[in-house]
Amino acid sequence: MSILGMNRETSLQRLKDRKVPWDLVVIGGGATGVSVALDAATRGLSVVLAEQSDFGKGTSSRSTKLVHGGVRYLRQGNITLVRDALRERTLLRKNAPQVVHDLQFLVPCHNLWERFFYGIGMKVYDLLATGNSFGRSHGVSLDESVRLVPALSRKIARGGVVYHDGQFDDARLLIDMATTASDHGACLVNYMAVTAMQHSDDGRLAGVTAMDRETNETYRVDARCVVNAAGPFCDSVRLLDDPSSEAMVSASQGVHLVLPKRFFPGETALMVPKTSDGRVIFIIPWHDHVLVGTTDTPIDQATLDPRATPEEIDFLLKTAAIYLNETPAIGDILSVFTGIRPLVKGDPSARTASLSRDHVIRVSGSGLVTITGGKWTTVRKMAEDCVDRVIVEAHLAASRSKTADLKIRSRIEKEEARESLHESFQMSEYDVEYSVRYEMARNVEDVLSRRFRVLILNARVAIEVAPRVAQLMAKQLGRDNHWIDSQIASFNTLAQSYLP
Ligand SMILES: Cc1cc2nc3c(=O)[nH]c(=O)nc-3n(C[C@H](O)[C@H](O)[C@H](O)COP(=O)(O)OP(=O)(O)OC[C@H]3O[C@@H](n4cnc5c(N)ncnc54)[C@H](O)[C@@H]3O)c2cc1C
Repeated sequence: MSILGMNRETSLQRLKDRKVPWDLVVIGGGATGVSVALDAATRGLSVVLAEQSDFGKGTSSRSTKLVHGGVRYLRQGNITLVRDALRERTLLRKNAPQVVHDLQFLVPCHNLWERFFYGIGMKVYDLLATGNSFGRSHGVSLDESVRLVPALSRKIARGGVVYHDGQFDDARLLIDMATTASDHGACLVNYMAVTAMQHSDDGRLAGVTAMDRETNETYRVDARCVVNAAGPFCDSVRLLDDPSSEAMVSASQGVHLVLPKRFFPGETALMVPKTSDGRVIFIIPWHDHVLVGTTDTPIDQATLDPRATPEEIDFLLKTAAIYLNETPAIGDILSVFTGIRPLVKGDPSARTASLSRDHVIRVSGSGLVTITGGKWTTVRKMAEDCVDRVIVEAHLAASRSKTADLKIRSRIEKEEARESLHESFQMSEYDVEYSVRYEMARNVEDVLSRRFRVLILNARVAIEVAPRVAQLMAKQLGRDNHWIDSQIASFNTLAQSYLP
């Protein structure tokens, strides 16, 4: 397969050369925006995507890494949501097998009543997954539970229930999806912030103004339709269109801790259905490490680098300690990463934990199409719905969505053995160069956080390899020593914030 890949200079040149309006501009390069661009491009529409930072810099690289129907939504009786998500789970595994795989979970039970209760719940989950099953659920004894999850404390469990879902690498999938969209003709640009909307004399939205954050150059991008896929930031984009618009999302943050694998050997994950504050917590093996998450803390304002509070870290450590043989301490934490949920507002008095996870598409008076909510697992369907709506709003001629059967391309691997930049991660010089040349990595964080997951998995190791990565990138990007030094300094500051 030839490497087409993404190239920022080519995308900028396409923006400059374009003499007629694009069919569509997408604001935001997270899972939602990239899926919309992919859906639109494969239907034959001309599409530009502008991301103010890097692809996946927002929530989409900070998920719990589950491709799931959402067992917890069963409790809310949201059957349609679960069934649709289970179908999407299957499509994602079929179309992106390089990053999605099955994962077995154990629900530890304190007594026989819980085994019965969760056993029934999982049977309903199985039933909803008919035709889309990743494996059937079943009850297990305490001995079997400990065999599956060797780290499980015998003190806490009286057996358990096993069920199946999917697991993936979120940022890796996002980059693969963006590259696939680019292969199909989408023009994607990272570090390009939308700063204003263009309205025609009749008040209809006619495009956007975007600023290249590397050069401060501004671009006027004319388009027949504008999609706002800015996730937790979607209200600030809506204000650019209509300064009187009211907020439609509330933000809540979710924290994950990363621990060394020794705290949780084995390949079966743990799902704690009810913590002391009534939440679901997962303890999950991922890339030879262990993730513990997540929390649900309402926040006033979304930021690109949200920080965990000491209380959230403490809560996750204490909850993990209840279930694990070995108690993790704060010094054992390798990295802490935090994502922000863009939860669509319902009843203003509702707690964020009870708001809907389903997606919403809202069209403003001028024609701005805002899509938000939902989850990673369901972004393909979200994008399909969104582009269907765009076609109607902008009177476009396009085919039906093709993404249900669209293979997501994977990174082209070189066969020969490559020396890794660090003993604990598989990431070679070639990998760094590839990220720059074909995946639009622009700085050290892009490589170490999203093209590879070193920062997310082990912030100290990320700090160690940053100078070498900066040097390799400088060669590819034609940057000088000053750039290298400032990259190392700013990456160090960022990586420190991933340590508790
Ligand atoms: C803690 C947590 C755990 C989760 N776990 C799971 C899970 O296990 N499985 C699952 O299916 N889902 C999960 N989700 C949900 C899923 O991660 C989100 O629904 C999804 O990532 C949202 O993607 P998005 O593209 O809408 O938002 P984002 O990924 O936040 O993308 C929005 C983008 O818009 C950009 N942007 C904003 N303003 C502008 C502008 N003016 N110009 C240009 N760009 C702009 C931002 O920089 C950002 O990159 C989880 C969510 C959280 C918070």
